[in-house]
Amino acid sequence: MSAVIGILGGGQLARMMALAGYPLGFEFVFFDPEPTACAGQVGELMTAEYHNELALEEFCQKVDVVTLDFENVPVETLRFVQKKKPVFPSPEVLEIAQDRLMEKQFCHSVGVPTTQFEPINSLSELKFAAKKFDYDAILKTRRMGYDGKGQYRISAPTDINQIPDELFAQDLILEKRIAFNREVSVIVARNGLGDITTWPLCENKHKEGILTTTIVPAKHSELDELTVACAKKMAETLKYVGVMVVEFFQTGDEVFVNEMAPRVHNSGHWSIEGADTSQFENHLRAGLNLPLGSTEMDGMAAMLNWIGAFPDHILSINTPKLYWHVYGKEPRPGRKIGHSTLLAPTAQELHDKIVNLV
Ligand code: ADP
Ligand code: MG
Repeated sequence: MSAVIGILGGGQLARMMALAGYPLGFEFVFFDPEPTACAGQVGELMTAEYHNELALEEFCQKVDVVTLDFENVPVETLRFVQKKKPVFPSPEVLEIAQDRLMEKQFCHSVGVPTTQFEPINSLSELKFAAKKFDYDAILKTRRMGYDGKGQYRISAPTDINQIPDELFAQDLILEKRIAFNREVSVIVARNGLGDITTWPLCENKHKEGILTTTIVPAKHSELDELTVACAKKMAETLKYVGVMVVEFFQTGDEVFVNEMAPRVHNSGHWSIEGADTSQFENHLRAGLNLPLGSTEMDGMAAMLNWIGAFPDHILSINTPKLYWHVYGKEPRPGRKIGHSTLLAPTAQELHDKIVNLV
């Protein structure tokens, strides 16, 4: 089966989808407003704004099916494309995942717990809600946030005075802060026939809101079964097609959804070398209604993000089962420019390898 896959967004996720799809015989066309989008180094890149209907029309003529690497592609763009070519995930799912409030309301509608939250539209609403959450909360923009951007920690009444006035021009949400034991994510793949699978649970460490490390499988906890069940329930209710990821906070005896991503996810990058089938390959398989590949793994995997810079000695480090992924992006502070995956048979050996690398 050959297919030309169109991807809205041309970042590293699109690039890794293509690198997973070429061995299967697929071709790729990327669509991104940014001419330097790094997927353009591995396939045809169309540069245009997401609302440019002429350009979208041309894009649709080139491809058989369309997916995305960026959850903030305008929903109207996806609706326009859907009239011409099959799209996964659907515009309806995207609409929910783009808005932290709708996302949480959806979770509640299917009985999946989230952090406590209040929608915020004014300073007085913020004051009221912050008090309700005992001044232990995080203010977030409802839309467009990523890598911790657009977030403000509130830990005292005085923190409210630090919030810039302009922020209230956007829809906001206040979330009660969770004193979690750990953050985990479930990567789910589901195809249009309803086949569904998950990879082993991923344990994630963030620094200043940006993912730095993922370890898989996460050390077993009694909450894991419930965690995976919540993610599957969400994917099934949404009749989701493709790979999606749900991020969770686990405390001593409770689990809460943090957010979902309607796409392949940074915490699943280890699956390229660490699992029988990567998240990228299964995303394509799901969208083309092919059987999903096995998500099993042997031993353990670690994924380390390179943010802003690579280590000086990159590529001269010669450790067995160490894999480099350089995205071809211009280095900037706080920008993800690549990752490394390490594989090892045991947690101790994996830990030793990580310590040697960083
Ligand atoms: P983004 O969309 O930028 O990934 P998230 O909502 O996932 O934003 O927040 C980024 C990180 O900030 C989370 O992974 C977590 O470490 C921390 N965080 C966010 N919300 C909360 C919360 N309610 N309680 C505790 N930590 C939080
Ligand atoms: Mg997140």
